[in-house]
Amino acid sequence: MKVIVLGSSHGGYEAVRQILLDKPDTEIQWYEKGDFISFLSCGMQLYLEGVVKHVNDVSYAKPDQMHKEGVDVFVQQEINSIDPANHSVHVLNHNDGSERDEHYDKLIISPGANPATLGVKGEDLQNIYKMRGRDWAIKLKEKTVDHNVKNVAVIGSGYIGIEAAEVFAKAGMHVSIVEHNERLLGAYLDKEFTDTLTNVMKDHNVDFYGNQGVTEYRGEDGKVNTVVTAKGNEIPADLVIEAAGIRPNTEWLNDVIDLDDHGFIKNNEYMQTSEPDIYAIGDATLVPFAPTGEKAVIALATNARREGRTAAMNALGQEHKMVPVSGSSALSVFDYKFASTGIKEGTASRFDVKTQSTTVTDTFRPAFVPDDAGNAKVLFKLTYNPDTHEILGGQVMSKQDATQNMNTISLAIQAHMKVEDLAYADFFFQPGFDRPWNIMNVAAQQALKDLK
Ligand code: FAD
Repeated sequence: MKVIVLGSSHGGYEAVRQILLDKPDTEIQWYEKGDFISFLSCGMQLYLEGVVKHVNDVSYAKPDQMHKEGVDVFVQQEINSIDPANHSVHVLNHNDGSERDEHYDKLIISPGANPATLGVKGEDLQNIYKMRGRDWAIKLKEKTVDHNVKNVAVIGSGYIGIEAAEVFAKAGMHVSIVEHNERLLGAYLDKEFTDTLTNVMKDHNVDFYGNQGVTEYRGEDGKVNTVVTAKGNEIPADLVIEAAGIRPNTEWLNDVIDLDDHGFIKNNEYMQTSEPDIYAIGDATLVPFAPTGEKAVIALATNARREGRTAAMNALGQEHKMVPVSGSSALSVFDYKFASTGIKEGTASRFDVKTQSTTVTDTFRPAFVPDDAGNAKVLFKLTYNPDTHEILGGQVMSKQDATQNMNTISLAIQAHMKVEDLAYADFFFQPGFDRPWNIMNVAAQQALKDLK
């Protein structure tokens, strides 16, 4: 059997790994159009801040190692068309300009997504960057030590925009974040969390311009120097980083497999597309959203990896369904660490589901443990359906690392647990780690009172 895997990031990598695990004698051809395999944008902040020293280390796989494991790795070789009827792909080899067709028995594609462009006047000026992939990582790294850069504007305040803002603020630059929505990180956290984070940002020389998109970039000598917003603000910027969403990289697949109105590839729970021997995974697809059972856009490496494994198992003939996911994610903003999963009050209107929430504040460890021994406050919010009591989402924030709680809430959502199940659920206690009642118990017990 010959399996061709397209794309060497999270989705593609995981598909290759699963095939090697289950049927190592499979003929695997692995294609990447870029000049490097398996760069992980998730590690970009660590590289930009100097924690990881070399850009090439932000990777899981090296071609030599994969060759040794029996994978034919093709770098700078783009699959630019697919012929499902003949089970073949057309390959453009950017190394020497040659072209060829390759036959496949099964094809797994993880073409990913590209950062969205805004389409505003002046977007072709120099020093307007994106933050995705190795090439942008190298360019951004140069700017972190460029003394000509005094003011950085970040467009978009999802987790990528926030990472960009923190990198450049830590590098000593003044940062302005411009955001369409009222609050930063609005898709991840509710107001009681983001109010604190907006102030924390301000304390670190990061200004937030909410409720306003970019209307124009202005510049001099071909280089950007000003971001103009819908509210008429003129924000100085020697460097702009656009982090305003993604577009699936699927235009070239229009006539090959079914796409939805936004260009995302339609796949079933086995990751099969409208062509049964073509499996699609990663940011170019929608994922099953556990709180509602509907499909949703959640561009996360975690999802791409789960889809990659699912696709590979099914391609090898082992029936396996994609697990529903809740968009669990964690991040830090300077001293604060936070995580969230599932539905928040701020995102509830997107779903046809009733929500109610309970917010509690507690200390991380018992009250007798001094603050400076690692006992910060924890803010926790539990969201549930007031009719069925089913848990729908959670958010947590602290200067301590309480983020793992969200993995538990994610599991509770996946298992359709109710507030009652969580209120007295068994969690460990040791004063060095937490309190006799874990913050999740505390929130669920309060929720039961709120529901009366
Ligand atoms: P992509 O990563 O987009 O990769 C697709 C690959 O396919 C590319 O290498 C591309 O060159 C190649 N390709 C495309 N078309 C072809 C073709 N026709 N022929 C050959 N090759 C092709 N997620 C998390 O879960 N946690 C995080 O902490 C996190 N942090 C992030 C930080 C940043 C700055 C960014 C940008 C993203 C982050 N993500 C994170 C999201 C995560 O990176 C994506 O969800 C993940 O990369 C998606 O993987 P993918 O395989 O779908 O596609």
